[in-house]
Amino acid sequence: MNIKKHFETEAIRTQSERSQFSEHSVPLYITSSFVFDDAEDMRASFAEEKEKNIYSRFSNPNTTEFVEKIVQMEGAESGYAFATGMAAIFSTFGALLSSGDHVVSCRSVFGSTHTLFTKYLPKWNIETSYFKVDEVDKIDSLIKPDTKILYAETPTNPGVDILDLKQLGQIAKKHNILLVIDNCFATPYLQRPIEFGADIVVHSATKLIDGQGRVLGGVAVGRTDLIREIYLFSRNTGPAMSPFNAWVLSKSLETLAVRVEKHCDNANQVAKFLENHSNVNWVRYPFLKSHPQYEVAKKQMKLGGNIVAFEVKGGIEAGRKFLNNIKMCSLSANLGDTRTIVTHPASTTHSKLDENDRLEVSITDGLVRISIGLEYIDDIINDLDQALKA
Ligand SMILES: *Cc1c(COP(=O)(O)O)cnc(C)c1O
Repeated sequence: MNIKKHFETEAIRTQSERSQFSEHSVPLYITSSFVFDDAEDMRASFAEEKEKNIYSRFSNPNTTEFVEKIVQMEGAESGYAFATGMAAIFSTFGALLSSGDHVVSCRSVFGSTHTLFTKYLPKWNIETSYFKVDEVDKIDSLIKPDTKILYAETPTNPGVDILDLKQLGQIAKKHNILLVIDNCFATPYLQRPIEFGADIVVHSATKLIDGQGRVLGGVAVGRTDLIREIYLFSRNTGPAMSPFNAWVLSKSLETLAVRVEKHCDNANQVAKFLENHSNVNWVRYPFLKSHPQYEVAKKQMKLGGNIVAFEVKGGIEAGRKFLNNIKMCSLSANLGDTRTIVTHPASTTHSKLDENDRLEVSITDGLVRISIGLEYIDDIINDLDQALKA
């Protein structure tokens, strides 16, 4: 009998078969291709009558192990691993859309995803209509006969808004379109979009899944028929994850639950500290009662995540000054690292947008985004406090 194990156990005990050396920790399979016993073995493998590795662009024991774990964690049927999160997102669209198709997406999406929608997909005659985070009621009116995909991230970057996954799942079902969710900020430990009706879940594994700022990676999991299309697209276009990164990321998953628990605990304390700070206008954290979608967050997330956004008093200049006075935390573009990272979107990542466009994605001039790390909580708070007071 196959007893279903818990999340933490699956993350640790899902493993490739041991080799002749009976290793306890799975080895790294650095090989571009695999060998066959004879002509029949090779024919049957290519015909997919056998599940054998052929070439590492198609599959490799390390990427297979990594994907199996994410599939388990997300409650999906199948998956495929990519070199980066953007490769996972692009390949999902590339595989599932045709010329003339239409996408409906939340406007608050990762910057490169927005560029994909506005600059590249239109080259293949695929248009995207946007709704804002507080316009979920408008989605019905955006859907056309050619709409194929409803796309969203929650929590969003960098505004930390929350979208109601159950509501999105119901809308997608009603219109018979695919729901694709970027679950990067939550990780499957906090939130499983498939339970709410998502057909595909994509991740940047670069963030909390690696969790230590070492490697890039991406993954798409979901329904077998859809993943099959994504796999065939990727097998032919070549965005595969390297075996080394898969090995690193599979090890990372063994500690995902404990790491994310601690990230969230630290983030919760930072959010409460900032909420009471005299130099802060407001704080956005999903598990603060003051968050506009607090009730929804509580329903669909186990904990509030590790990203806290807040507005420092004094606009753009105050935001820049805050960053300049940070002593310990890192000024960096990554997130979900062991190290706490602060960014000021209005003067950096989103500086090319004008103020109105920034406000569309909840970025005010003084908005600071913090990816809370695993340092001792007092040290994180002390650094933020001295930078706010300086
Ligand atoms: C970082 C990120 C991506 C892109 O992932 P890469 O691994 O950098 O390509 C996509 N979505 C979200 C929400 C992200 O934070």
